Amino acid sequence: MIKRIRYLFSGIVQGVGFRPFIYRTAQRHRLSGWVQNRADGVWAEVEGLASDLTAFKEDVISNPPPLAEIAISQAVDLLPTGEEGFKILESEGGEARKVHIAPDIAVCDDCLAELFNPADRRHRYPFINCTNCGPRLTIISDIPYDRSRTSMACFPMCPACRREFDDPDNRRFHTEPNACPVCGPILQLLDKDGRAIPTADPLRKAVTALKRGDILAIKGLGGFHLAVDATNEEAVQKLRARKLREEKPFAIMVRDLAAAKRIAHVSPEEERLLLTPQRPIVLLRKKDRSAIATAVAPGVDTFGVMLPYTPLHHLLMQEDFAALVMTSANKSDEPICIQNREATERLRGIADFFLIHNRDILVRCDDGIAAVYAGAPTLFRRSRGLAPRPLFLRKPLPEVLALGAELKGILCLVKENMAFLSPHIGDLETPLARDFFHETMALMERITECRPEVIACDLHPDYYASRTAACMKDRKVIFVQHHHAHIVSCLAENRETGTVLGLAMDGTGLGTDGRVWGGEFLLADETDFIRRGHLKHFLLPTGETAIRHPWRTAVGLLQMAYGASWPEWAGRLRLLPADFAPAMIERILDRRINSPETSSLGRLFDGVAAILGLRREKVNFEGQAAMELEALARKGQGTVLPYDIEKENGVFILDMSPAIRILTEQILAGKPVPDLAALFHATLIAAFADLSRQICAEENLDRAALSGGCFQNRILYEGCVRSLEQVGLKVLRHRLVPNNDGCIALGQAVVAGYRIKKERSL
Ligand code: ZN
Ligand code: ZN
Ligand code: FE
Repeated sequence: MIKRIRYLFSGIVQGVGFRPFIYRTAQRHRLSGWVQNRADGVWAEVEGLASDLTAFKEDVISNPPPLAEIAISQAVDLLPTGEEGFKILESEGGEARKVHIAPDIAVCDDCLAELFNPADRRHRYPFINCTNCGPRLTIISDIPYDRSRTSMACFPMCPACRREFDDPDNRRFHTEPNACPVCGPILQLLDKDGRAIPTADPLRKAVTALKRGDILAIKGLGGFHLAVDATNEEAVQKLRARKLREEKPFAIMVRDLAAAKRIAHVSPEEERLLLTPQRPIVLLRKKDRSAIATAVAPGVDTFGVMLPYTPLHHLLMQEDFAALVMTSANKSDEPICIQNREATERLRGIADFFLIHNRDILVRCDDGIAAVYAGAPTLFRRSRGLAPRPLFLRKPLPEVLALGAELKGILCLVKENMAFLSPHIGDLETPLARDFFHETMALMERITECRPEVIACDLHPDYYASRTAACMKDRKVIFVQHHHAHIVSCLAENRETGTVLGLAMDGTGLGTDGRVWGGEFLLADETDFIRRGHLKHFLLPTGETAIRHPWRTAVGLLQMAYGASWPEWAGRLRLLPADFAPAMIERILDRRINSPETSSLGRLFDGVAAILGLRREKVNFEGQAAMELEALARKGQGTVLPYDIEKENGVFILDMSPAIRILTEQILAGKPVPDLAALFHATLIAAFADLSRQICAEENLDRAALSGGCFQNRILYEGCVRSLEQVGLKVLRHRLVPNNDGCIALGQAVVAGYRIKKERSL
């Protein structure tokens, strides 16, 4: 029986080789008809035997082009017309609204084969790409996506490239960034002052510099990297000193899987994650002995490892480097550099050479970071390779632009049932980061062709994003509590709805009572929440300053655990720095001078680490003490210490004081720190499961959602997943957005969307 079906495909179907894919698939199944780009997506009519039509549809859905994300918006049966052959029709004009910009993707195997084939016209050409790979978001200035609206506009194609571009049977049919050595971008090497170094082979010279131990700035896909030989201790130290990044671990790039396995333990799941076309940095457990310099990742037991993802990386990694440090090119927490001039100015005094090219990066996009926790991938940073791919929500929501939190900034724009997440912006503490924040806001509105009237932001009035929102007089602003946003983001990405018990565990978020929250058990749904339980509040002497100087947080914990006799214990622990009189900090605490109350688990970790003797005086980045405590705990053994759960006005208070007293006494008795660190982790996990079980029994709930930066701690995360499941709860986990504040914008957008919807229906 002959049938004819008309399809409307939406989703990511533009710039991903979708039409030639439909053309080839239709031909393979002996179907006639046509395919065409229109304003609202890709339309196709296919005609043939009913069985062939079914096979066609199955093929389209199960084997789409690697970059595509297909939704069938319409499928209508038509009368057969007897049409012969299959055609790709000219695009119909009008603005493309339902078609999305694809993320940047690692160079594909077909292109790699050509790259290393001496007979190929693109042999060793660093900008080789095709419909299935290469730059997308990072070269786009506007939509719809075609070459004239990308940074390839200034490179007219040569006749050979043009032929590929026009041929539906070619892998490069409508590959907008198509290029070759004749017509495309080229490499150039600059010295430390940004002056061009004349050479026929810039790559060779750059490799020589790296081998010598010099620091090379390399222009990549979404920004510059700073590279040094990761096995050269002195070179890595030099980079640390120049970059003012005293101790944060550096990411490294290795040539292939075998090279990764030489320096770290790689499970099959981790292997899959390393090889995904998004090519994230994957956190892997260090091997005891490897060639990697100690200065690459001091104090932690993991390496951040990625495989090459641009042709240029592959060419570099051919040169027998065991590993290269590849860290975002910036000074400490500023945004990554993208322009040639910008790089030579901002990296002056850091880079010895610059390996640049003349294809502009138009959108900043940092490397993504991921790990495998409890058997599944978890993201630490959602950026290159994933941005601006949307998450699909359960239901369409009103349009909202959410501005995120202060740290790990990311924006979320909700349109219909899609939540578009921006590239990672970073901490909004420097003028450069704030510029980037505004750039990103404009970008998101441009590529989604949407200017939402509703803005969502954090409750905290001093956050840069909240202040920005307050200035947008023509839009409606909705404030969302930080931990509520955490839990709703987890609900939303799991496409679940209704009330859950949310465990929101992080460093800082302003509570509705003006306190600093961060160890929260919330009963939450999409519009509202009740704070059903929390870690017992303790004082944070000198407020924010205590984050950098954990001994102060430890004083707050000792006061909670021992009351007025805390100075005695602080004295025995030798907790206070020599120049700090106990009387002074006593006065600060007694009069509560700049000493907010907090329930933050992040701070509890800092304080316990300091009591156990780690990082007392100073941490160089937030979470450093906790990361080291976790690394030690993996080497230790421990069961569970006592803790208290009390109820005050219907709210559960989890008091870790009994455990803190035992830890204090045991460290004074000379017990090994790894065992005490392990005990502390085990106690938290047991207490969280215990309290969750009690709340869920009272509230008749069977689901718990986990979110918050503290769940980047592998022991805590895996322990909580396991023990919550053991008490019979279904555990909702983040997979598509990070546990840290990179998920906040999604949560804010969904809360605001539901609130508007509710308001409108009243
Ligand atoms: Zn390719
Ligand atoms: Zn060409
Ligand atoms: Fe948070």
